[in-house]
Amino acid sequence: MTNLAPDHIRAIAPYQGGKPITELAREMGLQVEEIVKLASNENPLGISPKAEYAIQEALLDIARYPDGNSFALRDAVSHKFNVAPNQIVFGNGSNDILELAARAFLIAGCETIYSQHAFAVYPLVTQAMGATGVVVPAKNFGHDLSAMLSAISVKTRMIFIANPNNPTGTLLGKDELFDFLKQVPSNVLVVLDEAYDEYLSAEHKSEAISWLSEFDNLIISRTFSKAYGLAGLRVGFGLCHPEVADMMNRVRQPFNVNSLAQAAAVATLADDDFVARSYALNQAGMLQLTQGLQKLGLEYIPSFANFISIRVGNATDYYRKLLENGVIVRPVANYEMPEYLRVSIGLFAENAKFLAVLEKIMKEIA
Ligand SMILES: *Cc1c(COP(=O)(O)O)cnc(C)c1O
Repeated sequence: MTNLAPDHIRAIAPYQGGKPITELAREMGLQVEEIVKLASNENPLGISPKAEYAIQEALLDIARYPDGNSFALRDAVSHKFNVAPNQIVFGNGSNDILELAARAFLIAGCETIYSQHAFAVYPLVTQAMGATGVVVPAKNFGHDLSAMLSAISVKTRMIFIANPNNPTGTLLGKDELFDFLKQVPSNVLVVLDEAYDEYLSAEHKSEAISWLSEFDNLIISRTFSKAYGLAGLRVGFGLCHPEVADMMNRVRQPFNVNSLAQAAAVATLADDDFVARSYALNQAGMLQLTQGLQKLGLEYIPSFANFISIRVGNATDYYRKLLENGVIVRPVANYEMPEYLRVSIGLFAENAKFLAVLEKIMKEIA
């Protein structure tokens, strides 16, 4: 049957997510409570209490279809980010936004550009369209913007930039990014993926939304899965020129964002305190982990997000031994980083358990 699928579909390597807690519990005969998952950059605080209440309310109406235009959420995002309602596209997670951009604008045979070590979904959505991904070598694990500019050809339709990037946690400077956008031809779309913007300090926070008036070819992608804590509900959004939004909406499933997700997202957007607590916890946890890693003499890539990639050497061995000890992290060999493990920042006790197990494994392996 597989030969019925076109070559470009058969060539796709499926996305590998973090191992679910229940799966490890089954495999290792562990209790769910003793497992620590630091593998998918989820919010260790869980969800905003306001979102939880909103979900319970929305559940009463769950027999109805969701609002296909996400009116209340559109209104909330429009006010919060100071964009017009017709500049917003909602997605089933921001993954959906990446896919809508690809489906609306890519054709078979065209090219997209993304960086080595950049988020795995860019090649996936590119390949699904029969387009060709051009991978530009990274510079110090981050995007090399001048090399990406040089990679633009007559076939280029789209450039993906993750800022901060996953899994490296690297961040591009605002001036550098702005200069880059000025040099990208206007017939090439730039998808700027800002899934971790809420984890940036005030000085580093993105200003790209204010650039939308200048760049009609810019699509900014945001998510409720990370700092907003709604990964399981699947909701994200794209901000762009109204005509770009119009094209993306034409290929969107009419009810791609479910009603619980819409209600929870509206409530979370209004809960600044929850996002502030999430940010503060991440700052403290990042310090706890980096200090612990320095004590262990392990190299890591300085990160601006809610995870950190650590150079352990034989990452396959470390990954397996961490699992045996009830700690799930993320191997990143598929990102051409076979010596690294990506670890999400968790609660204080989760980070402490990870560091303790890591130290034990280092002694066993030495
Ligand atoms: C997690 C992540 C996303 C997508 O998450 P969704 O849950 O689909 O919103 C997008 N981009 C990057 C860089 C990510 O790390």
